Amino acid sequence: MPTSAPRSQRLVSWRNVIGGLLSAACLALVYACQTVPMTGRQQLILLSEAEEGQMGLAAYQQVLREERVSRDPRATDLVTRVGQRIAAVADRPDYAWEFRVIDKNEANAFALPGGKVAVYTGLFQYTQTEAGLAAVMGHEVAHALARHGAERVSQNMLAQVGMTALQIGLRNGDPLITQGIALAYGVGVEMPFNRNQESEADHIGLLLMAKAGYDPHEAIGLWERMSAGKGRGGPPEFLSTHPSGTTRIRQLQSWLPEALQYYQSARRP
Ligand SMILES: [Zn+2]
Repeated sequence: MPTSAPRSQRLVSWRNVIGGLLSAACLALVYACQTVPMTGRQQLILLSEAEEGQMGLAAYQQVLREERVSRDPRATDLVTRVGQRIAAVADRPDYAWEFRVIDKNEANAFALPGGKVAVYTGLFQYTQTEAGLAAVMGHEVAHALARHGAERVSQNMLAQVGMTALQIGLRNGDPLITQGIALAYGVGVEMPFNRNQESEADHIGLLLMAKAGYDPHEAIGLWERMSAGKGRGGPPEFLSTHPSGTTRIRQLQSWLPEALQYYQSARRP
């Protein structure tokens, strides 16, 4: 009989400890408590939106410098059209929205706080239809609207270096934190969001695509195609933290009635 708890159990209890500390910090730092749009979840965020937007812009510009931006009008027009329809219902008029296609055979996409969105050409084999693309772009934009990257940076910094160091780092524009934003939004490097954030992005993304006038049923087919593509060099960001394809589909189906209400209002003239 082993005397120490198994590794998985220790991880769970460590997570509980962090969760408890975050809740305590959330109570202590009322200013740091934010509410996620559309789901109403409370979250702890220690970066201002302005700081997050600046860091997002820096990460985006770096991607544009390092990758080949597509000039194919078919791809760029499609991504811009879908992006603008989602942006129109995202309730962030302060974002300077921009949509780019990266010519790279990688099933990937990202949206950064501030509204910088990129889709990689390797994604089109999965999206197939305009509504399929809307499902992925809705999901990515949802991560930005819900400030998932900033939330992760806040949690990581709290857990790793402690509150004092974080506050000093923020004051000084610490490059570690700037880099953390790029990593946290999955730019360039695979560093997935956690499972709850993925579920929340699925939920908000489904509502966004429906509000933008795309049939939310199409999201089911899209995520099924993604799931089937796993192992064929499939997309890391979209699948790695999800419990399983079936759980994802079941959750999406449970949110469909809510999404369909938005879809029907969007279609009414
Ligand atoms: Zn995601």
